[in-house]
Amino acid sequence: EATLEERILAGLDDEQRLVATTLNGPVCVLAGAGTGKTRAITHRIAYGVHSGVYNPQRLLAVTFTARAAAEMRTRLRDLGVGSVQARTFHAAALRQLQFFWPQAVGGELPNLLEHKAATITEAARRLRLNTDRATVRDLAAEIEWAKVSMLTPENYAQQAQHRGSPAGFDLVTMARVFQSYEDLKTDRNFIDFEDVLLITVGILQEDPRVAAAVREQYRHFVVDEYQDVSPLQQRLLDLWLGGRDELCVVGDASQTIYSFTGASSRHLLDFGRRYPQAELIKLVRDYRSTPQVVQLANKLLAARRPAGAGADAAWSQPLQLIAQRSEGPAPSFVECADDEAEAATVAARIRELIDSGVQPAEMAVLFRTNGQSEAYEQALSAAGIGYQLRGGERFFARKEVRDAILSLRAASRVDNTYHEGQSPTLPQQVRDVLASLGYSEQAPNGGGAVRERWESLAALVALADELSGSRGAAFALPDFVSELQERAAAQHAPTVQGVTLASLHSAKGLEWDAVFLVGLSEGLMPISFADDAEGVDEERRLLYVGITRAREYLSLSWSLSRTPGGRANRKPSRFLDGLRPGSTETGRSSATRSAAARATRKPPAVCRVCGSALSTGAERKIGRCSNCPASYEEATFEALREWRLEEARSAQLPAFMIFTDA
Ligand code: ATP
Ligand code: MG
Repeated sequence: EATLEERILAGLDDEQRLVATTLNGPVCVLAGAGTGKTRAITHRIAYGVHSGVYNPQRLLAVTFTARAAAEMRTRLRDLGVGSVQARTFHAAALRQLQFFWPQAVGGELPNLLEHKAATITEAARRLRLNTDRATVRDLAAEIEWAKVSMLTPENYAQQAQHRGSPAGFDLVTMARVFQSYEDLKTDRNFIDFEDVLLITVGILQEDPRVAAAVREQYRHFVVDEYQDVSPLQQRLLDLWLGGRDELCVVGDASQTIYSFTGASSRHLLDFGRRYPQAELIKLVRDYRSTPQVVQLANKLLAARRPAGAGADAAWSQPLQLIAQRSEGPAPSFVECADDEAEAATVAARIRELIDSGVQPAEMAVLFRTNGQSEAYEQALSAAGIGYQLRGGERFFARKEVRDAILSLRAASRVDNTYHEGQSPTLPQQVRDVLASLGYSEQAPNGGGAVRERWESLAALVALADELSGSRGAAFALPDFVSELQERAAAQHAPTVQGVTLASLHSAKGLEWDAVFLVGLSEGLMPISFADDAEGVDEERRLLYVGITRAREYLSLSWSLSRTPGGRANRKPSRFLDGLRPGSTETGRSSATRSAAARATRKPPAVCRVCGSALSTGAERKIGRCSNCPASYEEATFEALREWRLEEARSAQLPAFMIFTDA
């Protein structure tokens, strides 16, 4: 009979097995999308732990987004190594900072700045500079870039000469804004998102006791999505390593999509030079997608500009993927008259797939900007199809979920005392408690916050059904509550049943049976502000990331005008040239359907974050009350580009804060 270790290796091909069994020394895996990089490193961790080479407490796995970290924890848990830490750089640094702050600095950790744009506005105003939205957005982006590039207000002007005139200011003025922003923050005892990493780096550099303690804690490091590491994250990683080389990195230079935050595939491509003794492994077999999807991805990459000078040619060649799966349906290319027709067409196609047996949770609609999601929320709601806007990893940070757990806990105490012997089943108890929070079996009409809240509570009900089935009748409410608390600690969220609506940026590393890439017109893809060759290259990589999320069904669609009956002044994305077959489908919602959709569309009346009534026209326009921070769907990185810096950060923070070690 096969041992556990043998079974872990059995699920891998030869190259992946080499990754999994090279447990010591530097290892670099450079491979395209869907080739099993994440699978290889999670199996490597499991193999290392089960064979006794790794102590699970002494290994740190790092990835780029909280959602990808949650996905990795799920995979590790499934391999029996749930106690291994898988985190984002920020989450890992924040924990270390919270732990070492009293010893290294003294006092309490400063607060995390939530109103970055306001602080930058104030800094600019003090210097009597223009503070319109676009200027502040550009100032914020430049300060962020400077910080992740580890520049200070003192050396910025000298080091950033290649930046031209950011936000329209000369470099000396820019440096003064940077200084003034830093001063305001320090005076008020705040730190921002980048400070979390910068301060951790500073402490590790200056305090040998802290550095020794962290290095003693972590012996082995694994970094997924390494193509998007920033200079600051790289420095942190180097400090954690402290000259050791127990490091395994995996990445795909063709999926670098966060350059605007200072990330660069340079570190990935230079790995072999930096560690000449490294084991360098390439994977080319694509296990995720059908040959039809793989061919499209290969074509998109083949059409790109040749890589710039300096990169190691052998390593920067686009890796052509070789499909392993059997044939699937041809990707569809759909041209629609307007956004509404596009959304209705997508919803109708999703309905067909559901009817043919594809699970809603196995489908995703991916868009370039979060503003595009609304049309799809409307269309899916109108078609009676459940959806989730937010990543599963934030499930336990949602207010309705925290409230539900509190109520369930209260009920479990009461039940213990008074209802011993005569009590209803667990699923019924859970339904009763959640009903007191407004839950009903029937999904609400319409979308927005109300729908999202319902989806969260429905996921808890479904989990209660599932666990009482699998754990038997003895599994009671208190057990359910402690299970929820454990899952919250491990961020092991139940899957919310429903189609995922997500930005392309937040989709990296993930996969679905059916993927709908929408809004593929010039101005949205590439986005209008990607106005130079590098920017357009990055947009192409973003589309590559999108295409390669699909296992089987792939739809690429665009519309010719924004509004029904509007001027058809949009052109299909330039990236579609050479990908599109001779004929294109025409997406049409039947006239009645789109008329009905228009008739039922009302301006939102309640805040989609907290659900309270909206009072002003401005609030209704954005669908959110003035007291609420942006909801999670806005808190992805393109929000950083579109001014909502402070919101992006504050929306991300709770996930780190509630993350506790077992
Ligand atoms: P990305 O670049 O998008 O992050 P990746 O290289 O990390 O992709 P994975 O997510 O690890 O790829 O794997 C893609 C899919 O292929 C997953 O569903 C995974 O389980 C499957 N897979 C990978 N390797 C194998 C294998 N050897 N046999 C069967 N399935 C595999
Ligand atoms: Mg991956």
